[in-house]
Amino acid sequence: MAKHEQPVVVVTGGSRGIGRAIVRQFIADGAAVVACARGARPANLTDDVMWVTADVSRADDVSRLVRETLTRHGRIDVLVNNAGVQVERTLPDTTDEDWDAVMSVNAKGVFLCCRATIPPMKAQGRGVIVNIGSISGMQADPALALYNASKAFVHGLTRSIAVDHGPDGIRCNAVCPGWIETDMAGAAFDMAQDPAAARRDALRRHPVGRLGTPEDVASLVVWLASARAGFITGQAFVVDGGLIAASPLQPRLF
Ligand code: NDP
Repeated sequence: MAKHEQPVVVVTGGSRGIGRAIVRQFIADGAAVVACARGARPANLTDDVMWVTADVSRADDVSRLVRETLTRHGRIDVLVNNAGVQVERTLPDTTDEDWDAVMSVNAKGVFLCCRATIPPMKAQGRGVIVNIGSISGMQADPALALYNASKAFVHGLTRSIAVDHGPDGIRCNAVCPGWIETDMAGAAFDMAQDPAAARRDALRRHPVGRLGTPEDVASLVVWLASARAGFITGQAFVVDGGLIAASPLQPRLF
């Protein structure tokens, strides 16, 4: 891509939450953005975003997403694998359906989108992939067994892509959000025995004194996709307001 050319960015799960903020920030920076999710085009999505209804767990949908992007724009400069789902269960309680629900999106979906996008990036001689992992892929959040494992997969795949395709001009990094105020986080709080107490407890554990916003995550994604991050690949970057930097020991007891 020449310096003056508009970068072409594909964002999965762009209908709401973190994905939607990523779409907004790339548009604000002048990119051509293609967004997808399983539902129809959101009514409040601005006209400058190309929408493809696609389920990332289906190889044929992913092929169509890539094909329609290439037909419209001729290349893909940035892929953001953001689509993800969460199921709150310990392992013995996890059903085969839960496995399919979580792994088909969080793991297979990332695999399918990367597999379909790396060849055109390789042909271009450049490209950037940003995968949305999670702090849950680094530490075990309680009763999120498969979700935690699926995000650890994302971090591992990120490193493999960086190593295998760095020589093709492709960089690949993961962004690992902590507690970000979205529907997904809201649903997790709602599962608690006392949602208000769970929220107070979560807030107390954040050195910055607040939970994250989708924009907090989007800012790092956009920066990692930019030439300013040109020497950065194969890494996982935490965006959590200091949550996992803190010792679990209670200060008042020491
Ligand atoms: P939301 O549930 O708010 O949004 C998820 C997005 O993914 C929606 O656009 C949804 O649209 C889309 N999606 C889900 N399944 C598929 C699918 N099979 N194919 C295509 N799109 C799909 O989640 P968040 O914004 O909170 O999360 C975004 C990412 O960030 C996820 O990967 C999540 O695991 C990760 N994350 C979130 C954290 C948080 O605190 N919120 C913390 C750490 C990580 P639709 O349902 O219409 O398909």
